Amino acid sequence: MVLLVDDQAMVGEAVRRALAGEPDIDFHYCAQPAEAIGVAELTRPTVILQDLVMPGVDGLTLVRRYRNNPATRDIPIIVLSTKEEAQMKSAAFSAGANDYLVKLPDSIELVARIRYHSRSYLNLLQRDEAYRALRQSQQQLLEINLELQRLTNSDGLTGLSNRRYFDEYLNAEWRRAQREQSQLALLMIDVDAFKAYNDTYGHVAGDEVLRRVASVIRENCARPADLPARFGGEEFAMILPATSPGGARLLGEKVRRAIEALQVPHEGSPTSPWLTVSIGGAVIVPAPDQVFSRLVELADTGLYQAKRNGRNQVLMA
Ligand code: GH3
Ligand code: MG
Ligand code: MG
Repeated sequence: MVLLVDDQAMVGEAVRRALAGEPDIDFHYCAQPAEAIGVAELTRPTVILQDLVMPGVDGLTLVRRYRNNPATRDIPIIVLSTKEEAQMKSAAFSAGANDYLVKLPDSIELVARIRYHSRSYLNLLQRDEAYRALRQSQQQLLEINLELQRLTNSDGLTGLSNRRYFDEYLNAEWRRAQREQSQLALLMIDVDAFKAYNDTYGHVAGDEVLRRVASVIRENCARPADLPARFGGEEFAMILPATSPGGARLLGEKVRRAIEALQVPHEGSPTSPWLTVSIGGAVIVPAPDQVFSRLVELADTGLYQAKRNGRNQVLMA
């Protein structure tokens, strides 16, 4: 698409004739300099032929305006001058013109230059579009990967970390505690008489209870390094790096009370009219040759004791 901006209708007619034999070149003629920018925005030319001397607006001023307009900034501009003059040429190029022709060039040269500039402009557009598409698909890929990571690491029912991520995280924190010789605490939280709950209220209600228990556990993981997880079934866990036995017990007690305070009716419970949990806890400063499963075993021992002692309690192993 060629846009000619020239106040002389005769020049318009001559260029039209020169391009008439080129079926792949569209031609638009604008005789009013004041309308040039608007027409360019509308016709989206791949080359602008710009007359330098016009009444009203000076051709060089128009060239600068094309360059300052985002819609026309990169469109190649061939200025048409009445004479071959070094000063004029220099002014045209520094205003942003790409080429300089003396009116009227023969049609072979005119067509060749139009084709050359059009092609380079179309290549530029294609390249920009390809980059844009590339950036977009990279962004999409990033988002999909993040979502995928979230899905692989989280439990579908409660949204807490799942067992897979629990193991990964505990392993990493265990090695850190080993290096730093710091205390690593773990709480195992098991819903009391949950089989009876399901039997009385149904599995859907049971699922809802698990979600509410999970919320309490999540809310009580205050430090950034604390990790709440669903260990499996109706059993949850809290990994608490750099936490003392006293601190872990206190937090366990807080969780136990908060769940009882939900006052979820549980007729089949042997311990309370409400739904309760038993919590086993353990704290280890890992020895160099110790494996992290030791911490889980120890917390499990605490949990077993808490159940044996009558449930609805926290027991540190
Ligand atoms: P205890 O006080 O000794 O912990 O008794 P319990 O009944 O809670 O323990 P048990 O291990 O006998 O039963 C656990 C029950 O939890 C059995 C199982 O059907 C139920 N359960 C496990 N996962 C889910 C779940 O995702 N949704 C529901 N609704 N129930 C679950
Ligand atoms: Mg249970
Ligand atoms: Mg259980």
